Amino acid sequence: MHSSPQSFPPGPFRGGSRYNSYGAFLKEKFGCRVSKVVVDAGFSCPNRDGTVGVGGCSYCNNEAFRPATATSGDPVARQVERGIAYLRQRYRAQKFIVYFQPFTNTFAPLEKLIPLYESAFADPDVIGIAIGTRPDCVEEDKIAWLENLARTHFVTVELGLESVHDQTLARINRGHDYECWRRALRRTSGRGIYIGAHLILGFPWESRAEVLGMAEAVSGIGLDFLKLHHLHVVRNTALARQFLNQPFPLLGYGQYLDLLIEFLEHLDPAVRLERLFGLTQEEQLLGPHWGKTKAEIQHGIEHALAARATWQGRCYPAPR
Ligand code: SF4
Repeated sequence: MHSSPQSFPPGPFRGGSRYNSYGAFLKEKFGCRVSKVVVDAGFSCPNRDGTVGVGGCSYCNNEAFRPATATSGDPVARQVERGIAYLRQRYRAQKFIVYFQPFTNTFAPLEKLIPLYESAFADPDVIGIAIGTRPDCVEEDKIAWLENLARTHFVTVELGLESVHDQTLARINRGHDYECWRRALRRTSGRGIYIGAHLILGFPWESRAEVLGMAEAVSGIGLDFLKLHHLHVVRNTALARQFLNQPFPLLGYGQYLDLLIEFLEHLDPAVRLERLFGLTQEEQLLGPHWGKTKAEIQHGIEHALAARATWQGRCYPAPR
């Protein structure tokens, strides 16, 4: 039994959705179908090259999620052109956000970043850029340049987080702590730039209370978008080596649905969800294997929310 007296729908969710969907937000904001074009601008990562650390985050294998149209070495404009042609044909997308995804996409001096970011606007239907990066790699000059760009374009900075618990961040070799992420959030806030974050649910050492504590920690702090991933063990990573040496429990599909739904219930309804689960190419994945397609998982989450008569933010804010 749910204790809340609220009845659905409680919040401004579009189309009767039970969570605040990033896709629906884009559609409403731009009045058409908007797709992301992933590009690889050839960056490295300070957590790999020794600037911050070596070896990278223990779960990270960027090759596991890079689309075929994003090829490091090709000019960004060429990748944009190719990606847009594909998305126009496959999904009838009309507007595009160029997503600088692999590795750390602010890891260069500003004078090197500017031409890369500017070349994203090679097609007039590109309405903005999204930049995936680390919280220890967003210096003031870069944010000031993006702030200026955001006056005329849709600009998102994704500050990787993964967990708000320092013990976890150390254990997965992130090379920064939660306070570093909070500083980056403060530096980026209030400047017309949309701010995103990623969290991983399902570290075997994090308790349910710690996971729900993450929902609370990223609520009410001005975060615009959130991507949630379930913990994947991907081949050719430190985590894979740990898993093969000493297997640890990974979430089954039903267990993940339970955890995700509780997380959503405790999350600020103003945070838009860009992703609800992780995706890795099957041949790269050591586990968990759910034997389900992306569409089946998405449908399963929506069905479970409806079956439980619940929604994002149902338990937010938590009673004190
Ligand atoms: S997850 Fe991001 S920050 Fe971590 S090693 Fe990979 S590219 Fe670097």
